[in-house]
Amino acid sequence: MGRRAEHEIQPLRYATRRLRLASRRMFTRHTKIIATLGPATDVPGVLDALVAAGMDCARLNCSHGTHEDLRRRAGEVRAAAARAGRPIGLLFDLQGPKLRLSVAVVPSTVQAGELVTFTCNDDDVGERRVPVDFPEFPRLVTERSEIVVGDGVPRLVVESAGPGEVVARSMSAGELVPRKGINVTYARPELPAITDKDLADLALAAEAGADFVALSFVRSAADLEQLRTRLDEHGWHGRTIAKIEKIEAHEHLDEIIAAADGVMVARGDYGVEAGVARVPLMQKDTIYRATQAGKLVITATQMLESMIHAPEPTRAEATDVANAVIDGTSAVMLSAETSVGQYPVEAVRAMSQLAEAAEEAPEIHGRARAGVRDTPAASVMHAAVELAAELDAAALLVPTSGGGSPRACAKYRPRQPIIALPQTEGVANQLTLEWGVYSHAMDVSGSVDGLIERALATAKEFAGFASGARVVITAGQRTGATGATNLIMVRDIP
Ligand code: PEP
Repeated sequence: MGRRAEHEIQPLRYATRRLRLASRRMFTRHTKIIATLGPATDVPGVLDALVAAGMDCARLNCSHGTHEDLRRRAGEVRAAAARAGRPIGLLFDLQGPKLRLSVAVVPSTVQAGELVTFTCNDDDVGERRVPVDFPEFPRLVTERSEIVVGDGVPRLVVESAGPGEVVARSMSAGELVPRKGINVTYARPELPAITDKDLADLALAAEAGADFVALSFVRSAADLEQLRTRLDEHGWHGRTIAKIEKIEAHEHLDEIIAAADGVMVARGDYGVEAGVARVPLMQKDTIYRATQAGKLVITATQMLESMIHAPEPTRAEATDVANAVIDGTSAVMLSAETSVGQYPVEAVRAMSQLAEAAEEAPEIHGRARAGVRDTPAASVMHAAVELAAELDAAALLVPTSGGGSPRACAKYRPRQPIIALPQTEGVANQLTLEWGVYSHAMDVSGSVDGLIERALATAKEFAGFASGARVVITAGQRTGATGATNLIMVRDIP
């Protein structure tokens, strides 16, 4: 970096340092970190070490492990959060309608240009006759469809689909082996959005009181509406995350963003479907559109892939993380790096350091466009963010009942930490993925005066602000009610 550029970022470095001085507790990283749990994190002491290294949310991938594993790990996350004295989110990631080759497939290598016939019957099997584990397979494919096996090869173009079989021509060489995952692009919506396995996993997620549930292979907003209906049936108010990993999902992005509480840039499967060359622009576009809509966005998969086997990330990985952070992603996610990697704690620590360093960039994007806001409360939160910036306040203190007020602040990406003070630990957990939001449960009922004094005392205790640190506080005259924030106050910590 040239001298001039280095000079240009100095004022922001200074601002960050001043925030550090104002608070004994470090709220210096705004981008959140999700770590996937697995055998590597089952080792005694590792989960606590992940929390200490900066994990904000634990992901349980329902595609792997038994219900016993999921239940045990969910309990361990709650216990680790209690030991650490801070909220840790719990995310159940549902497998969704994953297609696989049948167990009866005869292993073989297909060459570019060869024809393969996909069948629906395990007895209809041979060298180039490959059964699929879904009886309706021919009804799925359209004239635009490609069939992608495994992580991307072979990729086959559909030539014809008839009763009981689909004929496709391979564009690349690759292996056909039993139980290998397959993706069909531009599939007809014959597959259920939520499978029987997902329903069983959802029931477990509800039982565990998960804070977030992610749905795989989302195609349209209707899939999210189904998920919400299922959650309602359990009387459970978890936040929904739509994984953007199908070409159709990216084509329906705005409606999906509107229907979900957040989205995940699921680069693994999207790269399989669309080809890896299409991943970067999809990621940038998804982060841009989600942040403009004020929704949370997670960037996922292979972010620190080399750390599965190495204690340090590559320069390319460091740059990848930094680019997602600078584009304004709410959270970055670790998958195999933590679930089965050799260096899970180092991976979270590296992610935390990389995100914090990237946030020193002259500009972090992702600030939602200021415009006509939907409610007076939303306008109040926007004004509070502006005021906190103008005063260079140490923090924004935001008492909340449902979490809407801190979310309304987070979407403007303020440099000030947003100290959310929700009524319940459940809401505190659901705020763990919001950019720049740090929560601590507090009684938000009673008079406004009492609430403000309690907020100041709690922030001093929880966030360690020094006496005299200036903060901006929001409150509602009907305190404890959702969407009632209508006051802004400037105060110094007593
Ligand atoms: C992905 O495909 O990038 C992803 C996050 O999903 P999964 O880990 O379930 O494959």
